[in-house]
This record gives sequence, C-alpha cells and structure tokens, in this order.
Amino acid sequence: MADRRVRSLVAMHKHVQTPYYLCEERLLEKNLKILDDVQSRSGAKIILALKGFAMWSTFELVAKYLKGCTASGLYEARLAREEFCKFNPDAEVHTYSPAFKESDIVQIAKISDHIVFNSPNQLKRFLWKVKEINPKIQISLRINPEVSSSPKDIYNPCGLYSRLGTTLANLDEEALKKVDGLNFHALCEQNVDALEAVLKVLEKNFSKYFENLKFLNFGGGHHITKKGYDIERLIWIIKEFREKYDVEVYLEPGEAVGWQTGYLATTVLDIVENDMPIAILDSSAEAHMPDTLAMPYRAEVRGAGKPNEKKYTYRLGGNTCLAGDIMGDYSFDAPLKVGDSIIFEDQIHYTFVKNTTFNGIKLPSLVLQKEDGRVEVVKEFGYEAYRDRLS
Ligand SMILES: *Cc1c(COP(=O)(O)O)cnc(C)c1O
Repeated sequence: MADRRVRSLVAMHKHVQTPYYLCEERLLEKNLKILDDVQSRSGAKIILALKGFAMWSTFELVAKYLKGCTASGLYEARLAREEFCKFNPDAEVHTYSPAFKESDIVQIAKISDHIVFNSPNQLKRFLWKVKEINPKIQISLRINPEVSSSPKDIYNPCGLYSRLGTTLANLDEEALKKVDGLNFHALCEQNVDALEAVLKVLEKNFSKYFENLKFLNFGGGHHITKKGYDIERLIWIIKEFREKYDVEVYLEPGEAVGWQTGYLATTVLDIVENDMPIAILDSSAEAHMPDTLAMPYRAEVRGAGKPNEKKYTYRLGGNTCLAGDIMGDYSFDAPLKVGDSIIFEDQIHYTFVKNTTFNGIKLPSLVLQKEDGRVEVVKEFGYEAYRDRLS
C-alpha cells in the first residue's frame, strides 16, 4: 500500500502541473469515521459546513457518514441538495444566512429541510412564505450566547457588536414561539472546554425557552478530529444535554471534516535576494492560502523548519504584485533550486472555497487521491476562469 502510494505520487508529479490542492480520501475518511463515532455514541447528528469544505467530488464518501450539509445561502444550499443529497436521500440541508433576500427565499425554502433566521425580524418577515412553500421545513433562530473564547476577532462570532445571531436583550418572545429549534455558533478551532463554557451561559440565559424545542444546533468550530480533542467528554455532554432537555442535537463542523486531509503543491519559480534569499512560488498566499494572511497563521511546509532551525532559510512568497503576499520564512536542509517542489500541509479547508483570481493568477487544480492510491485531477482552471468572472 505504502509503496503504491509513493509510486503514484511520483507519477503524479510528472503529470499534474502545480499549483494544485491534493485531498487524500484515506485521510478524509479517517476524519469522517471519528465524526461518525461521535454521532453513534452521542446520538447527535453531524452535518458538513460547506463554507469550510466543499469539494463535492468527495461527497459520495462524505455522505456515507454525515447526515447532511449546512449552507450559508442559496448557492451552498443548491450544492448540498444537488451534489450531496443524491448520495443519501435522507440527508438534510440546513440553510442559514445573516440575512435572506426576498428574491432567494422561495428557492431556499424549496430545497432546505431547516431554515435558520438570524433575527426575529427576518423570521417574522419570511416565516409564512417559507412554510407555505415547504410545510415540513424546520424553523430555527440563531442566538448569540455572548460567550466566546475564539482566539481571533475576525473569527469570533460572539465578539463585540457581532451581527451574527440574536442576543438575549434582542430576543422576541413572539418569534420564539414559532421556532422548532435554536442554533448557535460560537467557537473556532476549539476543544470541548470552550463548548462547555458556552453551554453553561446558554442554559442560564436561554433554557427557559427550551421547553418546546425539537432541536438545538451547536454550530461549528469543534476541533473534533484534531489530536488531543476530548471526544469522550463531548459525547458525555451531548448525551446529558439531549436527555435533560429532550432535544435532538446537531453539530456542523467544517474545519474538522477537512482537517489535515491534504496539501497545496507549488513550485519554486525563482530565487531573489534582498538581505535574505526569497523564493517566488507559482502560487499565492493572498489568493490560494487566504487564512495565512487573514488569521494570520503559519502553514507547515513539508520537510522544512522554522527560520534558522535548518541550515538554509528562505522567505517564501507568492507570484502576485502584492508586497504582503508572503507565506512566511522557512528553513531547509539543502539550498532551494528553481523547479523544487514546496508542499504546504493542511490546505484543504478554507482554501479553495475562498480562492480568488487576483492578479490573474492561475487557480490551483483540485486533485483527489483515491483510497487505492490512484490520483485523479478532478478540476483544472484556465484563463477562462479568470475572464468569466470579469467583463
Ligand atoms: C463557519 C460556520 C460553521 C463551521 O465552522 P468550522 O469552524 O469550520 O467548524 C458552522 N456553522 C456556522 C453558522 C458557521 O458560520
């Protein structure tokens, strides 16, 4: 098996042009099995947040384990309905938007099993229309529990002045009578202790409204597939919660599904000097690894260390005209050469769902390594992908 994988990797480097993202089905399935274990032992339903991972060529595999998708609007809901549900007719589509548009609501209602409103205003405005179109649709309101230990403001849905979810002070009892369940989403890459802190405040402030609820959706940000996540505690908490309030519990992770399932492969195009050696790659932090700049964080590079940890240190930069298009500083055992391959680890979630063609840079291809080691280029992007988004 290992041999076959190495051989196919070698073969692939000859055929697939960088840049490309390669997702390994084997690693994806490993995550899915962990999530499925949580489902079966806790009784929760886990659905995929498409915002973080939407490689729909893997949905046949994902749909074997997860119970549906959560969508952030019409297009993600359509992708869920058209590309996920065909592999599992019982799969659910949950659609939430910070605000729904009048012109989208009919279509969204038709293809969603759950609709999650962000405010009592939106709920009251669209409730009857949505129910008329889809009488079985489940209605939810997103609440803001106003506790979060999210490490970065840009990813903190419960930060100061957050527009995401309704705070206790802005709840509307009339609107609450109309819901089948409640949603919250308060975490980002966090362990179960952060969930417990949120649940504690949630129970204190909102449990008086739980009585007639069918479900509670605990949102995403649960880093369940990361090494060290306390899965046993999560299972225990969910079970307690389900029993105490007699509700169904949903989790909707994105990152935990795509976590460490593959990489971004790039090539060194040139090496320039300016007080330090700088390698220019055929990729871009800005366009292809946006969270490295937005969060920001440092992606791991295969075989490389921190600056000066190994003998040869380089700055790695993107092939755009943005000065800050820098992946970071890394050290290597041997000097880099033009044509060398640079592999950024863990680049499958929150990457290609956010890509841009800034500077007209080529979008990386999407490659799937099947469980048997075969490598399949699922999608390549050319000049047209750039042109067709402009006019
Ligand atoms: C982003 C988001 C998720 C998924 O979050 P992850 O951090 O990728 O697990 C789930 N629910 C909502 C409402 C979100 O906005």
